[in-house]
Amino acid sequence: MKKNKTILSVVTSLILVLILSGCKGNLAAKNASNIVHDEKKIIWGVKNDTRLFGMIDIKTGEIEGFDIDIAKAITKEVLGDKGKAEFVEVTSKTRIPLLKNGNIDAIIATMTITDERKKQVDFSQVYFDAGQSLLVKKGSGIESVEDLTAKTKVLAVKGSTSVANIKKAAPKAQVLEFENYAECFTALKSNQGDVMTTDNSILLGLHMENPNYVLTGGNFTNEPYGIAINKGQNKFLAEVNTALDKLHENGSYDKIYNKWFPDLEEE
Ligand code: GLU
Repeated sequence: MKKNKTILSVVTSLILVLILSGCKGNLAAKNASNIVHDEKKIIWGVKNDTRLFGMIDIKTGEIEGFDIDIAKAITKEVLGDKGKAEFVEVTSKTRIPLLKNGNIDAIIATMTITDERKKQVDFSQVYFDAGQSLLVKKGSGIESVEDLTAKTKVLAVKGSTSVANIKKAAPKAQVLEFENYAECFTALKSNQGDVMTTDNSILLGLHMENPNYVLTGGNFTNEPYGIAINKGQNKFLAEVNTALDKLHENGSYDKIYNKWFPDLEEE
């Protein structure tokens, strides 16, 4: 009996070691930056709370937006008609860590191409042009960044370019940072601040839902959006860029653009 027990525990330990080493192997493989996406699917990091770009429809559970449609179209170009686009929620703060850890294959999430970020990830060609602006309640009296004083509370999102940009453009203003755009806008509506700042494209989505809040002062930065991919994945990066070229050539890009931004002129 005792002998049986010993054998059993040795066997169990062996199985455990095998399982654990298997897991570690998989993780290591995922982490290796030259491992590319699955043959059948691409896992995209997208926003879930950003109207017009990546917003979850509570009724259907589907995420919808410009970034989502572009991701689906690129997936088809890269993997063929049977290719699947899978979506994982990211915020401005979590998107680079999730990419670097191998949880997602690419980020398409209102993400500006910057030199700082280029040290960590590679970017595709620009697929959307935005610029930072301000959102205020109608009649707030704030008309531009020049109106932001030491008394002004500006609301922004952690991990976004908007935070550093506003500190530069209005160095005296107080900046309060939130986890995501839903929380940030809720804070504006509950008067925790005087103005919210991020890309005009994101603020436009909030204005459309809440016409009592308006964009003001025009754009004070350029925010060219790119798709971020882990370094060392040159083949995948080239595939994404070729796919974007194709979408421009065959009219799909314009179709998707006009679906989400019917009133905006393309540049
Ligand atoms: N485009 C800006 C950025 O990449 C602001 C939008 C966002 O937070 O995703 O940081």
